[in-house]
Amino acid sequence: MNDLSRNPLVCTSGNHVLRMLVVIMLFALMQPSLWAADRIDTEPVVTAFMHVNIVPMTRETVLENYTVLVRAGRILEVGPADRVAVPEGARMIDGTDKYLLPGLADMHMHTYASWEEEYPVSPFLLFVANGVTTIRSLGHNDERSLDYTLAARDEIERGDRIGPALYTCGWMTGVSTNWDKDPVPYLLANRESGCDCEKLYSFLSLADYHKVVSFAHTLGLYVMGHIPYDVGLEGVAAYPMDEIAHIEELDWELWDVDRSVERSPREWTGYLFVDRMVKVPRSFDFDMERFVGAKEQQIVRMVKRVKESGCAVSTTVIIGKLIYEKLITPELFLARPELAYMPPRYLEAFARGKEKHQQIKKMIGEGNEALPLFKYEMEKMITARLHQAGVPLLLGTDTGSGSMGIVQGFSIHDELAIMVESGLSPYEALCTGTVNASRMISKITGKDDFGTVEAGKKADLVLVNGNPLQDVSYIKSNLGVMVNGRWFSREELDRMIALPESD
Ligand SMILES: [Zn+2]
Repeated sequence: MNDLSRNPLVCTSGNHVLRMLVVIMLFALMQPSLWAADRIDTEPVVTAFMHVNIVPMTRETVLENYTVLVRAGRILEVGPADRVAVPEGARMIDGTDKYLLPGLADMHMHTYASWEEEYPVSPFLLFVANGVTTIRSLGHNDERSLDYTLAARDEIERGDRIGPALYTCGWMTGVSTNWDKDPVPYLLANRESGCDCEKLYSFLSLADYHKVVSFAHTLGLYVMGHIPYDVGLEGVAAYPMDEIAHIEELDWELWDVDRSVERSPREWTGYLFVDRMVKVPRSFDFDMERFVGAKEQQIVRMVKRVKESGCAVSTTVIIGKLIYEKLITPELFLARPELAYMPPRYLEAFARGKEKHQQIKKMIGEGNEALPLFKYEMEKMITARLHQAGVPLLLGTDTGSGSMGIVQGFSIHDELAIMVESGLSPYEALCTGTVNASRMISKITGKDDFGTVEAGKKADLVLVNGNPLQDVSYIKSNLGVMVNGRWFSREELDRMIALPESD
């Protein structure tokens, strides 16, 4: 709100102000309910979740019949219901037979300035309504989106915008538009504008990869990204960045890629997607068991190298699942109710066969229809192996561009389900989007302060109807979300993300 008195174009005479005051006072006297409603709208000093079962995520357990007090955006106290004194005037939320767990993090997503014009409902609200209370935006190609993201990050932190806590990488290096340019100015700009991390993409040369990792670290930037095609996993393990941005990046390690030849972005894309992606699985007749049997040593070595590199890995396996759905079972894909939240241009493109991944169909050609499922199964297999080896996984979905059909917030539940399908227990799957995420963010902020239900942690919480350690899907139909200490009941969340009436 602009302060009118500071605007020199607005004239206020003394008399005028007096008259206004009288009008306001009369109005207040006539409308007591209006002021009462105002008071209800302000957040009470303390919120108490009463008699609730806690999934603390400090270990695999449920603490039954607890009370959790929240004040000023932080968890104030956690304890058995009969031992926690609830201060007078606290707002009480009944948690009987319900479960309270930490809010989830989507550690691989993208923010775009075009969100404001294109989406029927703010994607920031879609995250919150789905229990996602932390997001990390992975790199930008355009100034407008970077500025938008930095502004939104600050607005959310100040409480001026409802949304998950936002962390962001800055300009990407190694994309097809800047792969042959000096990466240093991009890194300096990212440091200057206060970005949290550096995202590198597939087309960095080995020399530039070294330059990006060492210079970003000098600047104190966390570095993550694709495994550049010229570098490969061996190159990353020999000179590690902090995080690999997709499990999918590791696919290429098993598809006999010849990295001895330097290639332009166009040449790499042709070589990998047409030559390797189709030919290698074809040679195993798309049989995963045979593939794994033949590649066992390679798989073991790959996982060992990831572990030795110390890199965390962001998951985003939903991309593989959706590619499969879009190409092979489009009717299943189109039946996803969350697609109503996509920009209209997305479904229009899909109807015309021009959607981003529909283009792959032309590339894979006749007789290779089993490839999308094979690729998805392979990524689940790699997920399981990484997990067994103790590689830290970070839950991520790659949502954001509006061109892949991955819907903000809703997609986190798919990703969680995929983790469980890959062999993680529900608790282990939840760790990837809670405690692991907080540990990663602590490398930026120096504070490991979310992802568990403990006194002192951020009050980012989700209330659900059943035990998520038995079934992670309970989180999808949550009963309310607290983000940054602000509580939203299911009714409020539904109102917040209600789609505009269509005619
Ligand atoms: Zn991404």
